[in-house]
Parts: sequence; structure tokens; C-alpha cells
Amino acid sequence: HNLPEVKEYLYKILVIGDLGTGKTSIIKRYVNNVFSMHYKSTIGVDFALKVLQWSPDTVVRLQLWDIAGQERFGNMTKVYYKEALGALVVYDVTRPSTFDGVTKWKNDLDQKVSLPEAWGGGSIPVVLMGNKCDLLKDGYSNKSESEMIKYCEENGFVKWFDTSAKENHNVDEAARYLVSQILEIE
Ligand code: GDP
Ligand code: MG
Repeated sequence: HNLPEVKEYLYKILVIGDLGTGKTSIIKRYVNNVFSMHYKSTIGVDFALKVLQWSPDTVVRLQLWDIAGQERFGNMTKVYYKEALGALVVYDVTRPSTFDGVTKWKNDLDQKVSLPEAWGGGSIPVVLMGNKCDLLKDGYSNKSESEMIKYCEENGFVKWFDTSAKENHNVDEAARYLVSQILEIE
């Protein structure tokens, strides 16, 4: 028998951003397809595993790291970021202060983690998620799509998505895009 060789990848993905922006909700939606208004923020680190049949011969396992309660400090230790290959940075579109947090989180990432030497050692790909877009009245946001595209270019994000963990909007798409970027580098 000549079975085609299956390529398997395991990627550590960080999910970071200010408290209450919906990080845990996004992970639960993505991995378990559920949503609740009440996730306890327990101190520590939570992991979730998502297995993607990327293509007939490629399986990607995503180990999603949820910072669970430590985000109030606005940064994480280097040990926590170690060997991450991508990140989702989340803000809450209804709370502008959480968007200020985005730059802070990106800087923290760039200072503390980079791609493996074998991959060129650059910064890891980061997708920006403007979450809770279901709460925007008539879809109105104080940031336009073109502004966000410009912001991403200037600040080293690979792409921006408006998302809703509640209504399952763009969660899969954002994660998928991040994976495609990692696969491209590898
Ligand atoms: P975390 O602190 O970043 O992990 O945020 P959580 O996932 O705990 O979410 C904080 C609160 O926002 C919870 O009450 C969630 O139910 C709510 N939430 C999260 N995502 C959404 C969303 O897309 N839409 C709405 N309306 N609420 C959300
Ligand atoms: Mg949380």
C-alpha cells in the first residue's frame, strides 16, 4: 500500500488582549462552538486544542493559550510566550481603552518572542480581532475598515477582523488566516 504521507503540525498560539475583551469566549466558540455570558477569570493558564484538517494531507493542531486573569498586568513573562508561532490580539470594539491596549500587547510580544532561527527569526504573525461587533449599533464603529488596514500595516499585524464570539462571526476566518500565515513561513 502506498498511503499518502500526512503532514502534521503543532502550533502554539497565544490569545492576548485586555481583560473582558472576549478572549476566553473566542476560544470556547472556536473550539467547542459554545457561548456564555459568564466565564470565570481564573488565575493561571488555560489551554485548548483545536484540530484542523487543513487539506487532505495536512493536519494542523492548534494549542491555544488563554491568559486567564493575568491580563490585568498588561504584559506576560517571556516563559509564557516561549515557542509561540502566532498570536491573536483581541480588543473590544465598544471600549476604546482596550484598543489602546493593542499596541502595548504587540510591543510586549515583539520584545519577548520571535520565530525559530530556522524560520528566519522574525516576529511571529499576529492577527488583530475587534471583538463584540454584534454590539455595534447598525454596525457603526469609530474605526473604518481602511483605517484598520492602515493600522495593521503600520503596526505589523498580518490582518484585522471584526469578530463576534457571541454570533460566531469571523472567528474561524481569523484563526484560519493566522494558520495560513504560519504555514507560509514554515
Ligand atoms: P476575557 O477576559 O478576554 O477572557 O473575556 P471573556 O471571554 O470572559 O468575556 C467577557 C465578557 O464579554 C463576557 O460576559 C462575555 O460573555 C462577553 N463577550 C465576549 N465576546 C462577546 C461578543 O462577541 N459579543 C458580546 N455581546 N459579548 C461578548
Ligand atoms: Mg478570560
